Amino acid sequence: MKLLIMGRPGAGKGTQAVNIREYYNIPHISTGDMFRAAIKNQTKLGLEAKSYMDKGALVPDEVTIGIVEERLLAEDCKDGFLLDGFPRTIAQAEALDAFLKKNGIKLDAVLDVNVPQEILVRRMVGRRVCKNCGATFHVEFNAPKVEGICDNCGSPLIQRADDTEATAKNRLTVYDNQTAPLLEFYKKQNILKTVNGDQPLDKVFDDIKVVLGA
Ligand code: ADP
Ligand code: ADP
Ligand code: ZN
Repeated sequence: MKLLIMGRPGAGKGTQAVNIREYYNIPHISTGDMFRAAIKNQTKLGLEAKSYMDKGALVPDEVTIGIVEERLLAEDCKDGFLLDGFPRTIAQAEALDAFLKKNGIKLDAVLDVNVPQEILVRRMVGRRVCKNCGATFHVEFNAPKVEGICDNCGSPLIQRADDTEATAKNRLTVYDNQTAPLLEFYKKQNILKTVNGDQPLDKVFDDIKVVLGA
């Protein structure tokens, strides 16, 4: 399975990506996670990405395309992968297309997790992530068993620096302006599969399996 997962910020891409990764046994490649790891490790990439992420703006295409291509060439991507949060601009989509063609790779599907704009700020502001294992929770919609503690590994949960109300709103505007046009791009290629992301977590995953032909 060679897949992309798209959707507005907070739509549930990361949450469903974990399910897909386990079900299809493919690596989950999230550009947001790669940038956050770089920030944590205080690398040059992290330093550059942080200034954009803190504002809710996109990291420049040149930087982002480079790290994804390098990652896709790794051995573990040979039989499949799930790209999450990339591409996010037409330039990124075109670069990815050219890269895939050059390497003889064909995408099986592009999933679009569709959630109405109105509920997304609440999803982002209530999001909590595990400092240690990266698991994602929500204070109302997917609460951990013990408040503030990861169910998987017992580490403290934190709030992402960009999950403030103002930054979340800005990210939604950036999505509409720069990322939404990609849906048309993949629709034309006949590989776009839309699922309703405004349903309970398990139901969304059931629908994903259906559109992917389980
Ligand atoms: P994305 O990767 O698209 O930004 P996440 O997967 O991190 O989104 O989900 C955003 C927040 O919404 C998280 O706190 C997550 O627990 C919660 N969430 C994800 N899917 C659902 C859903 N179907 N219903 C309610 N809350 C959800
Ligand atoms: P969400 O889906 O909730 O917006 P992500 O973790 O995918 O969260 O992205 C967080 C931030 O990382 C984005 O707001 C942006 O600054 C940066 N980022 C992630 N992926 C890309 C990308 N493909 N191009 C540019 N910037 C990106
Ligand atoms: Zn954890």
